[in-house]
Amino acid sequence: MIQKGKVIGIAYTLKSATGEILDQGTAAEPLMYLHGYGNLIPGLENALEGQAVGFKSKVEIAPEEAYGPVHESLRQVVDRSAFPAGAELAPGMGFHAHGNDGSPMVIKITKVDGANIHIDGNHPLAGETLFFDVEVLSERDATQDEVSHGHAHGPGGHHHH
Ligand code: ZN
Repeated sequence: MIQKGKVIGIAYTLKSATGEILDQGTAAEPLMYLHGYGNLIPGLENALEGQAVGFKSKVEIAPEEAYGPVHESLRQVVDRSAFPAGAELAPGMGFHAHGNDGSPMVIKITKVDGANIHIDGNHPLAGETLFFDVEVLSERDATQDEVSHGHAHGPGGHHHH
């Protein structure tokens, strides 16, 4: 049964409300994750909790249970001088920064208007209702290393070792 401390393999297709495929994990290359440690968005973890291998479902997840609402405060206009001199700045470019709590975030340039650079620090999927087709393919107990790291190792998991 899927519960905290299990490593779960899933195949999934993630679609937006307009049907656009945003992300995918196939049966050949499933996503392996450690359940109960925040590796998936809350809505998907909740939908899988207590299920077993073979479970297959369509899951609709509201923004609150996914990447959260859009925060207008994360949309700002900054002066070009805030960027390295000579940096090429164009809409769609992203760069790494740190949030108020020190957590890493990606900030995207949405518009370049002379010296005024419009930026957006919202997650690209903030405010979006997400639609998953998900199938549970495998389940095993996590190793102690995985539990202490809070994520799955091995094929389909993290490869940072
Ligand atoms: Zn690790």
